[in-house]
Amino acid sequence: MSSIKQPAWAPPVPIQPEPVLKIYNSLTRTKTEFIPKSGRSVKWYNCGPTVYDASHMGHARNYVTQDVLRRIMEDYFGYDVQFVMNITDIDDKIIKRARQNHLLEKFRADTKLLDANLVSQVYTAWRAFLRNEVAVGLPSDERALFTENDGELDSQFSQIAELIQNNKEWKQECLKRDEKFDMNFTSANRTLSAVRHAESSLKAGSTSQEEAHKLIDDSQDILVLFLDEQYKSTVTDPSLSHNLASYWEKRFFDDMRRLHVRDPDTLTRVTEYMPEIITFVEKIIGNGYAYESGGSVYFDTKAFDEAPGHDYAKLEPWSKGKRDDAMVAGEGAGAPSQNNITRHSSSDFALWKATKPGEPSWDSPWGKGRPGWHIECSVMASAVLGENMDVHSGGIDLAFPHHDNEMAQSEAYHDCPTWVNYFVHTGHLHIEGLKMSKSLKNFITIDEILQKYTARQIRLAFLTQLWNAKVDFSESLMAGEVRNVESTLNNFFTNVKALVSQARDSGVTSDGYHHYEAAEKELVEKFHQSQHSFRAALCDSFNTPEALDVLRELVSRTNTYLNSRGKAVNVGVVENNARWVAKMLRMFGLGEGGSSEIGWGQESSAEGGAVDREEILMPYLRALSTFRDGVRRLAIDKGDSALKDILALCDKLRDEELIPLGVALDDQEDGKALLKLAPPSELLKARDEKRAIALAKQAKKEAAKEAERLKRLERLAKGRVDPKEIFRPPNVKEGLYGSYDGNGVPMTDGEGKELSKSARKKLGKERETQVKLHEEYLTSL
Ligand SMILES: [Zn+2]
Repeated sequence: MSSIKQPAWAPPVPIQPEPVLKIYNSLTRTKTEFIPKSGRSVKWYNCGPTVYDASHMGHARNYVTQDVLRRIMEDYFGYDVQFVMNITDIDDKIIKRARQNHLLEKFRADTKLLDANLVSQVYTAWRAFLRNEVAVGLPSDERALFTENDGELDSQFSQIAELIQNNKEWKQECLKRDEKFDMNFTSANRTLSAVRHAESSLKAGSTSQEEAHKLIDDSQDILVLFLDEQYKSTVTDPSLSHNLASYWEKRFFDDMRRLHVRDPDTLTRVTEYMPEIITFVEKIIGNGYAYESGGSVYFDTKAFDEAPGHDYAKLEPWSKGKRDDAMVAGEGAGAPSQNNITRHSSSDFALWKATKPGEPSWDSPWGKGRPGWHIECSVMASAVLGENMDVHSGGIDLAFPHHDNEMAQSEAYHDCPTWVNYFVHTGHLHIEGLKMSKSLKNFITIDEILQKYTARQIRLAFLTQLWNAKVDFSESLMAGEVRNVESTLNNFFTNVKALVSQARDSGVTSDGYHHYEAAEKELVEKFHQSQHSFRAALCDSFNTPEALDVLRELVSRTNTYLNSRGKAVNVGVVENNARWVAKMLRMFGLGEGGSSEIGWGQESSAEGGAVDREEILMPYLRALSTFRDGVRRLAIDKGDSALKDILALCDKLRDEELIPLGVALDDQEDGKALLKLAPPSELLKARDEKRAIALAKQAKKEAAKEAERLKRLERLAKGRVDPKEIFRPPNVKEGLYGSYDGNGVPMTDGEGKELSKSARKKLGKERETQVKLHEEYLTSL
């Protein structure tokens, strides 16, 4: 071991400390540091929808925003989130809607023809509707007339119709009294016209089922209330509610997926947790925080609030005892006055509700009934996540009483001081400055909004606002800021992609210059600053508007750099910036298609599978563009003599450029190529085989030619001898022949014996052949 030691090392001192995640917590009404209970795992419960109708913009605001928060936690901060969400599949609204649908369908099916009895039933329903619903918005003296003089309802209604038409102020006053006034009046008007139409049909002797169904369809809003009032106690089949809820649950998730909202990790349905709910309620009673009364069970808010270590209404202590619409809605419209008699305090709320006529019910130790609304979330969240969770989320409307009651129930059950550590509430949604409601006629379903805007545009609209602030969804927001951000980013990605693909196409070649000057250093520094500011914005309680601004600012700086550097641009630096911006946009859930491309992908309007047009088309376009460049250059440089080169270029496009892209151009006799798409590997194989055959043919031709050449050479060598000399030495053995004729053909052999006639003839032929060969030889010289 050497005695020489390493010099002392000092840990670095950060010049810019890492920001810490803080979340606006409704339990403190401040931004508090986020501290998960167990390492990086985060238990998260989100209140899901009550499924009885189409999902609308309010759902989009709520669930898209929560999806953004969840994605930031999972994909940016890297927490291991378990996201649990419930579906309320049994509730007053579901029961009522299912029952009414059923009664109306049955009534319609049972009606076989139009008669006076049917018309009279609808007319009675219409009168009841005027007294019960339309009258709510009327000034008190008119309301009195409405409810007293049954015989004159028709003439009073036409007076009201006239006032609505001609007196705007009067109508405004009515709307102030009841925001549904206009909607109710419209329903009443439509029904009255339908009744009048049916009466004249009857007079004309028309009693068809078609006429009868027309009357039912045109008056259904009003008729259904009448039928429900009369027959509701006859409907108790639980499958009606179940079927309605399953239908709308599926529609809800279809809509969420179209909005790119991630599915929950765990989904819970109330009707699947009845045994757990009953056990939960029993334990709360056992712990002394609930009591049974008349078949229902109520939470004892006073006992709970007074117990040491417990507080009732932690989110909105100032709302304690307030029994507003939400409180009543949470327990069911039923008969609150009757409930009030049996509960100890007006702020006590139902954990279990005794059954009422016309409702499905479950057996319990307190008789037949069903759970209250608040208890479901306490039970299901506890069943999945245990006695404490890191995050609980929901719309701000749910804070009181729903979430306060949820917390009280769970803390009463677990006898723990804190059931939820961070309560996050998404802000309200307004449409063009007004609360969205059917009566204000600004009610927009998700289906409708997706016909007008893309999922990306809707998400961008929410990202430009704080998650816990009120969002005003307006035409000007969509056409202004959202379109702006979208087109700025699209242009940026298109430019960078073109630059990068051009650079890649020209291969890795150095121009002997590093392209890393002051401008590049500055841009890279800006990039790192942006990354820091982006993190700081998200740490500041998920400040997405600020985070988006950081991305826009970096894009703008990169654009400035591109414009100022011209040909000297450092493509790598620009590509890095673009890739990071795209990654962050995708992290927010704004991406489409594969994430390997530079950018956030193309949104496809067609159903099913976004297609990256750019990625598919660019290689083809580049091949054609290169071809065109070549043709142009030839035409410019060579003029008419370029014809052969142009044909070679055409072959190069066919064999070298398009085949590797899976495009075959088969040249036909008529001069038009047959265009085919096929896997590149197949085309390459076919091309190479064709080439090999052509090469073999060529080689054979070459070989034949060579053989021919050798043969000729041999002939020429032979032809060198003069025909007169071929039978004389050295071309024949010495002394073979004795004498010759004038052409050099032997006449006698070496011993002077005359040659036979046939031998002389044969030699004469040989001489003739040699004459030809010699002539050939002489011409080749
Ligand atoms: Zn809930």
